[in-house]
Amino acid sequence: MSSHYDVLGVSREATGEEIKKAYRKLARTLHPDVNPGDDASERFKAVTHAYEVLSDPQKRRVYDTTGNENGTENGFGGGSYSGQGFAFQDIFETFFGAGGGQAGPASRVRRGQDALISVRIDLRDAVFGVNKKIEVDTAVTCPTCEGSCCREGSHPERCDICGGSGQVQRAVRSILGQVMTTAPCGSCEGFGTVIKDPCNECAGQGRIRSRRSLTVKVPAGVATGTRIQLSGQGEAGPAGGPAGDLYVEIRVNNDATYVRDGDDLHASLNIPMTAAALGTELTLDTFDGQQEIDVKAGTQSGEVITLRGLGVTHLRGYGRGDLKVHLQVDTPAKLDAAQEDLLRQLAKLRGEQFTEGKLAASGGVFAKLRDRLGNL
Ligand code: ZN
Repeated sequence: MSSHYDVLGVSREATGEEIKKAYRKLARTLHPDVNPGDDASERFKAVTHAYEVLSDPQKRRVYDTTGNENGTENGFGGGSYSGQGFAFQDIFETFFGAGGGQAGPASRVRRGQDALISVRIDLRDAVFGVNKKIEVDTAVTCPTCEGSCCREGSHPERCDICGGSGQVQRAVRSILGQVMTTAPCGSCEGFGTVIKDPCNECAGQGRIRSRRSLTVKVPAGVATGTRIQLSGQGEAGPAGGPAGDLYVEIRVNNDATYVRDGDDLHASLNIPMTAAALGTELTLDTFDGQQEIDVKAGTQSGEVITLRGLGVTHLRGYGRGDLKVHLQVDTPAKLDAAQEDLLRQLAKLRGEQFTEGKLAASGGVFAKLRDRLGNL
């Protein structure tokens, strides 16, 4: 068994700098990226281990005095380094930087992508929440090979071209002379292994497209644009990789009756002129069933009756918005002779022979319009 000094080809008196230089030189020719042979790989490990010991002053002192790095007198053969688990890749990387030392094949296994689908719901479902069944067309882990990508009984095999490193080095001419660059191996796409006998069902991808249905719990209070995140329900990753997330984007259909403003609902209610004048109690159909409302005598067009807590549920927090009923007074358009006669009598009684109008700056619908549009 040769000493660490012999392995690196330096003298026992070599300085740290000389040891570093010697290692760098050897590692360049023996690194698995460059030299895929088994023999080279063993030598690379031995060289790297020798460097690991001799580059650390304390370890080197122990080695110099005892003949092995464990500080025991057992001699050299006892201290096998094969099982020590130091990462020669790490040393190599610190040495040569990411460019030269970006060693190691890429993994086939990757996380799947997130997916986004949109779902239409009715306003009522936005108010109360709903369990919505959806169909998702996405990648799932291949059920035949369970993500291994290989036909049953076969395994990925080490790539002959790159020797399993997933990378090949190429000499490129540049103005600085010839430089070595590392590129993913074209033969194995950088994986370091090739699948010689791919699974039939997924063609060696480890995942297939599949349509599946699932039920989304849509919480009360969602609005158009709300996204619900379902962890792990997105695309399955290649080669059995974990699935991404599924985002369900909500679209709320327009409602024939209600207009939504935040968590309030607005609707309009036409009432006859006589009911507006005399007042009435009436029943309304709402999302919460039938509600009694009280129209006061003398109600004007544009007045609003607020039904508290009958709007949309607050998505965050408790409670609900309001339902606002905008009253619209209907003026009778067709009168028969008897009705016309009665109205004329009423006008006379009320002294409402209306022949001269007076314009005003404020009041009613006009004032609201003016406030909204500025000073008209
Ligand atoms: Zn498969």
